[in-house]
Amino acid sequence: MIRRQRGTEPLELARERSWRVARALLYGVDRTVREDGTLSTTQPTDLGYNIPAVRDALRTAQYGRCAYCATRTVEASYDHLEHYRPRAHYWWLTWTWENLWLACNVCQGKSNSFPCEPGTEPLAAPTRAAVDGAFALSTERPLLLDPACDLPQHHLAFAEVEGTNGGWFWKGTTGRGQETIAALHLKRVIRHTEYDDLLQHIRRWLEPATQRVASALAEGDAERARAAWEQCGDAFLWSDPATSSEAPFRVPSWWYMRAFYERSELAAHAMVMWCFPDHAGDLPPDPRPLLDDELPDALSPEARLHVNYIRGAGVAPKEHMEAAIKAVCACGSWSVDALAELLGRAKGTIQKAYVRPLVRDGHLRHDGEGYVSVGGANTEPIDGTEDGQDERGEGE
Ligand SMILES: [Zn+2]
Repeated sequence: MIRRQRGTEPLELARERSWRVARALLYGVDRTVREDGTLSTTQPTDLGYNIPAVRDALRTAQYGRCAYCATRTVEASYDHLEHYRPRAHYWWLTWTWENLWLACNVCQGKSNSFPCEPGTEPLAAPTRAAVDGAFALSTERPLLLDPACDLPQHHLAFAEVEGTNGGWFWKGTTGRGQETIAALHLKRVIRHTEYDDLLQHIRRWLEPATQRVASALAEGDAERARAAWEQCGDAFLWSDPATSSEAPFRVPSWWYMRAFYERSELAAHAMVMWCFPDHAGDLPPDPRPLLDDELPDALSPEARLHVNYIRGAGVAPKEHMEAAIKAVCACGSWSVDALAELLGRAKGTIQKAYVRPLVRDGHLRHDGEGYVSVGGANTEPIDGTEDGQDERGEGE
């Protein structure tokens, strides 16, 4: 599971919601009255949400994958419109955009129970029609991870399971993670064939690639090891999965590489673990400059200028991006994630095109938490019109 953003609600759904919720409130949700006056067994909540515009928007937002387990859902039988909060209990959220995902047929079979943290109040049904906008969702604390609100990598890990002869499975690293695995049956996730593909991906690509790093280290060739490690990130995390046979499983690859990273103690050789490859391409395509009180307090006036210059520039020359990163990292320790968000660029781009060269050239170093500038804020251009290319977002 990775974090996902749905994007804008399709107008068609808002239109359906506006009258269907109102009608359900008036007449109840148990039965529908047919035109001839008899009762239908079709529930009002069976209708009105499964519309092409919704499916299309979600298919695009989810890159054709299940919101929960990331199995490809392009084949019709694996393409279900799913309610995060089950409509059996949360009937008024049947037509709410923030409650809908496309899911594979294993994940959409999740049970109708929706456990929440003990002591938190479940959402109550509305008592009057709210025809516009979504309903407040903040009063309860669900245990099931929501790909739009949670950072799944904090709760779920992909890990080798002892005694399975090289089997890799998802496991929950927190209570919510375990609850999510149980609810979605993520243990037998990934459709069988897809799981086989994944294992093959590990054996065919990841094992040999990390092996090259290990053997270079064993021979004492740190330079070659570092180059091989950088190639791993390029090939498995940041290349286009549509055109690269090596990159169809970014998230499992990341966990595999992290396990290798820790086992091989790469940090001791000044190698840095890659940032998590979630929604790398989902950042705003046209970030606007931030107001002064929207910028982090830690930033110096100079760093603020740099940040807003970059945010406002559609395409910034490379040396301007580098100057901005150096200025920001002179004001404390910054992760790639935080830099990407601050500057409005994709994480992969920040890591690959800027942070990595700056570390290599001795301008940045990793202090265990994030990157800091070496030698303070020795930065230059803010204005100027040099030629340069600034790579922008990458898809999943
Ligand atoms: Zn699924």
